[in-house]
Amino acid sequence: MSDFDVDLFVIGAGSGGVRAARIAAGYGAKVMVAEEYRVGGTCVIRGCVPKKLMVYASRFAEEFEEAEGFGWSVPEARFEWTTLMRNLHKEVGRLEGIYRTNLEKAGVTIVDSRAVIVDPHTVRLLKTGEQIRARYILVAVGAHPVMGPSIPGGELGITSNDVFHLEELPKRIIVVGGGYIAVEFAGVFAGLGSEVTLLHRGNKLLRGFDEDVRDALGEAYSRRGINVVLERTIERMDRRPDGIAATLSDGTVLVADQVLVATGRRPNTSNLGLEQVGVSVDEVGAIIVDGYSQSVVPSIYAVGDVTNRANLTPIAIREGHAFADTVFGDRPTMVDHELIATAVFSTPEIGVIGCSEAVARDRYGEVDIYKTSFRPMKATVSGSAERVLMKLVVEKATDKVVGVHVMAHDAGEMIQLAGVAVTMGATKADFDRTVAVHPTAAEELVTMRTPFVVKTPVAVG
Ligand code: NDP
Repeated sequence: MSDFDVDLFVIGAGSGGVRAARIAAGYGAKVMVAEEYRVGGTCVIRGCVPKKLMVYASRFAEEFEEAEGFGWSVPEARFEWTTLMRNLHKEVGRLEGIYRTNLEKAGVTIVDSRAVIVDPHTVRLLKTGEQIRARYILVAVGAHPVMGPSIPGGELGITSNDVFHLEELPKRIIVVGGGYIAVEFAGVFAGLGSEVTLLHRGNKLLRGFDEDVRDALGEAYSRRGINVVLERTIERMDRRPDGIAATLSDGTVLVADQVLVATGRRPNTSNLGLEQVGVSVDEVGAIIVDGYSQSVVPSIYAVGDVTNRANLTPIAIREGHAFADTVFGDRPTMVDHELIATAVFSTPEIGVIGCSEAVARDRYGEVDIYKTSFRPMKATVSGSAERVLMKLVVEKATDKVVGVHVMAHDAGEMIQLAGVAVTMGATKADFDRTVAVHPTAAEELVTMRTPFVVKTPVAVG
């Protein structure tokens, strides 16, 4: 130890880095964390947390409308962007403070500076030029949004980072992309009252999700008045007096106040010194690590989005924790990236665990499909056109539930609990013997009895 200033130097105080630092310190390690922006990382500062607060804000419009069917008269509701932003940033600041305090309480030293790697055991703090010798270095620097291919006027677009700093609610917004971020923000802006175009290069939103979910979300978004434009891209953007004119690949010109580009994220691995010390990165710049998050340089580990394994906060946290257990707790631990419950905070929300029907057919051969689509009880009185989709994918040979797909209000909450059962290896018979909680929407997950039969066309003649 005497050769080193610290046992662990963590670069990046986001979800993965903070967890690793705290757990390692708990094992008695001397830990230092460097953060160049704000403690909390993407999730707390410009991702999950502020996004979810915006999702809540966006859902009130529907609630006000629905209230009338239940006898409430709601005076004309008015939304104020500045109030939402003020309260949102106050909460983000509060959480950042908690993250800092928790690190400090654990005995971790925080340095507010960018840090770069000098050699396998040394980092340099750019703010002061100081060099720190560390037994281990953990890279947990996350990822950043990419603007897609460069196009004329591309600089007129904004990314998800900028959304939280807009001065006003855009009256018209084009959201580019069909993944988590595009879908979530299209839903948010539609709920807040913007005129939204969701522009995606593919033929359906949310590639990789179950086809029924993809279809249902496309229909739900169109029903909500979102202009879903598929199989097109933006070729150029021009500033005009009436807004930003986006010329699409089919020649159509759409004019909007903002163009939010949500076409994916890339690991923050540039200029970190990784190449000089021999840490390997893949074609998108992600650090290549083994099951214990160790890079090819034995003293350097990496967790979270910078490794581009499963880019989700809870996974970064698990990877950080497993790293600390492995290196400082004498408990080698790998993280299972196979079975991950996830939610898309669209409106309606989506919750998924396990595989889609297509993947299951490929992986398991014969599968039984149980699915239902219905109007939720509340909608029958409120008059809302909202629909719920629930789908179970069951491996025929073992009766195991290998996929649960829900599109419904609070689907994220539902899938967290269904996820326990699926993670435990529940069979369809286990779902069947679970008593329904009535009346709920989620009860449909345990009351579907008849497999869905795919009708194959009958040859005539
Ligand atoms: P995604 O990878 O989910 O989606 C990117 C989207 O952009 C896809 O629809 C993709 O199309 C499209 N795209 C990519 N390149 C281009 C291009 N050159 N031109 C036009 N369209 C393009 O990325 P996101 O940025 O939405 O999110 C990043 C990650 O962050 C997610 O994968 C997820 O892991 C995480 N996240 C999780 C959330 C949650 O848990 N609720 C919320 C937000 C983010 P195609 O499908 O054709 O490739």
